[in-house]
Amino acid sequence: MAKYVKSVCKLCRREGEKLYLKGEKCYSDKCPVSKRAYAPGMHGKKAQFRRKMSDYGLQLREKQKARRIYGVLEAQFRRYFADAERVKGITGLNLLRTLESRLDNVVYRLGFGSSRNQARQLVRHGHIQVNGVKVNIPSYLVKPGDVVAVRERSRQRPEFKDLAQVLERHTAPDWLGLEAASLSGRVLSQPTREAIDIPLREQLIVEFYSR
Ligand code: SF4
Repeated sequence: MAKYVKSVCKLCRREGEKLYLKGEKCYSDKCPVSKRAYAPGMHGKKAQFRRKMSDYGLQLREKQKARRIYGVLEAQFRRYFADAERVKGITGLNLLRTLESRLDNVVYRLGFGSSRNQARQLVRHGHIQVNGVKVNIPSYLVKPGDVVAVRERSRQRPEFKDLAQVLERHTAPDWLGLEAASLSGRVLSQPTREAIDIPLREQLIVEFYSR
């Protein structure tokens, strides 16, 4: 699968806001967005003085922002949108729910990884199970009732050694039931819009694909 290999901080600077792609660094004063709040590249500074963005520009940026936050490539994102349109309900919310239901996102939300990127690595490297079965596909979609956990044989590894204590202080969203001691969490329901604490205007994404 294609993978973004350049500095992910440039993605935040391109969007002009923090996308929280790097775990702890994002909450420290080392975050480049705090120091250089303009797009990367030699024309980045000038770009912020350019004229107002068109409707198309706004829609495109919102779609790119969502893709970057969740680490999804264009083709897959488009498929998610097509599925969201087919399902009953509000298309924008359906899309966000699908993105939130990805296994890498759930692992991140449960606090097993400090960023979605790190959570994706944990899944890919086979450290995560769903309902007792190893799943190493980050895009796997969980559903209410599923139990996501760190695999028994991975628990002795250095990255999980102190995880139970870390999870004691972690607050998972209310659609996930975190059990810190057993390094596991149950999907209680589908996330509501209020529970998705991401500053995205999903209606702009719907407009982008409906042009
Ligand atoms: Fe984005 Fe985090 Fe890098 Fe800041 S530290 S620019 S929030 S990825």
